[in-house]
Amino acid sequence: MQIGFIGLGSMGSAMVHNLVKAGYEVRAWNRSPVAAEALPGVTLLGSPREAVQADVVFTMLSDDAAIREVVLDAGLLEDARHGLIHVVTSTISAAFARELARLHEDAGIGYVSAPVLGRPNVAASGQLNILAAGKADAVAVIEPVLAALSKKVWKLGEDPARANAAKLAANMMIAMAIEAMVEGVALTEGVGLDRADFFELILGTLFTGRVYESYSAQITSRSFEPGFKAKLALKDMRLASELGKETGCTVPMLDVVRERLSSVVSAGLGEMDWSVIADTGRSA
Ligand code: NAP
Repeated sequence: MQIGFIGLGSMGSAMVHNLVKAGYEVRAWNRSPVAAEALPGVTLLGSPREAVQADVVFTMLSDDAAIREVVLDAGLLEDARHGLIHVVTSTISAAFARELARLHEDAGIGYVSAPVLGRPNVAASGQLNILAAGKADAVAVIEPVLAALSKKVWKLGEDPARANAAKLAANMMIAMAIEAMVEGVALTEGVGLDRADFFELILGTLFTGRVYESYSAQITSRSFEPGFKAKLALKDMRLASELGKETGCTVPMLDVVRERLSSVVSAGLGEMDWSVIADTGRSA
């Protein structure tokens, strides 16, 4: 099976490696030049148009606007190979996922929303969790491909918005967990308790689990290399807020973490890991 791949950023470049390893023929495009030596086995393309001649094409671009520009505005759907299935692994809005599904159906192209849980190091080790939603026949075709990238594929039904809503909710909850850890550190450091000692207590008693383990380590060492860029996390909090408005639910804690991320991005730290909210704008 030939696979097109559009977007070789932190996540995309890690994912293509596992597709090659699984034996797929991978033909990929990125807006900025990418060194061929960094991606052995991948054929680098001169345009995204070439990528949609494959059996399956993935897009791992930043956001709704990038996909709109590269795929819709450039007319890729009109030029795509008949029978193509487009898998969008980016974190995008639920509303845009539904729009994409409609436009793909009109163009006779399969569409699956497949946002992922896991940072670039997890993608590189082929251990992502993939949240897949779309027409059952399209999901069935791409499932073995998704298996090459993931620990598990979670099938969430035919409405693609379900996968995107679940992904946005997951990121919202991670941001809230980071904020909770930071506020716990603030209270305890105020009376002289070292943050490493505080986290040893918390992880050993009340809060076990991956999010607490990995982000407490970053907060302790004050190391904020991405990871997941704060500017992309802010995008996700904005999309989660929009989804809340569309569905008529109130999410007050989301407003707090969105504001935190907005401050760090305004302070020029958008390229740092989103856990940088631990160290910025905290003085009373
Ligand atoms: P990234 O490193 O910033 O890469 C973004 C990619 O999008 C790059 O290939 C970039 O091309 C491309 N791009 C952006 N705007 C474009 C445009 N207008 N036209 C063409 N290409 C454009 O981001 P990432 O961390 O890989 O994240 C990608 C997606 O995965 C995002 O939706 C993010 O929310 C989601 N995600 C990220 C993580 C994570 O931990 N990093 C985890 C799960 C999901 P250039 O190289 O030319 O800039």
